[in-house]
Amino acid sequence: MEITEVRVSLREHEGKRLKAYATVTFDNSFVVRNIKIIQGNNDLFVAMPARKMKQFCPRCGKKVEVDSRYCSNCGAQMPPPKDPSEDRQSIHQDLAHPINQEFRDYLQSKILDAYQDKKNSSPEEENNEAVQEQGESQPQKDIGQQ
Ligand SMILES: [Zn+2]
Repeated sequence: MEITEVRVSLREHEGKRLKAYATVTFDNSFVVRNIKIIQGNNDLFVAMPARKMKQFCPRCGKKVEVDSRYCSNCGAQMPPPKDPSEDRQSIHQDLAHPINQEFRDYLQSKILDAYQDKKNSSPEEENNEAVQEQGESQPQKDIGQQ
């Protein structure tokens, strides 16, 4: 399967970890929207479109999003959420996603390339900063460390 088009919509100015949305076309025939490009602790990564998982309210039994603090139906306090950055899978369920590492890597590199292109060609971007960001991540040499 080939990725035939990647469209990127920048969200840089919102100042969050979310940097952009991507829309990806496969084989000129299938489109997946709402793929997110997120700044992780070290690198950018791609998050597939996802929905929030639900849990059942312990008091009234109504379905409530797993990271809600209170039941939207009866107001009961819900169990505390897990840290979303560490345990994303328990809160979000991907709606469409690659099922092998090879395609996952291919998809991610295509999307991140398109993101960098878009960023570099974006007229709103301040050039001074954009140029400095272009260097590839250089592996740190372990000088003076055991
Ligand atoms: Zn409830």
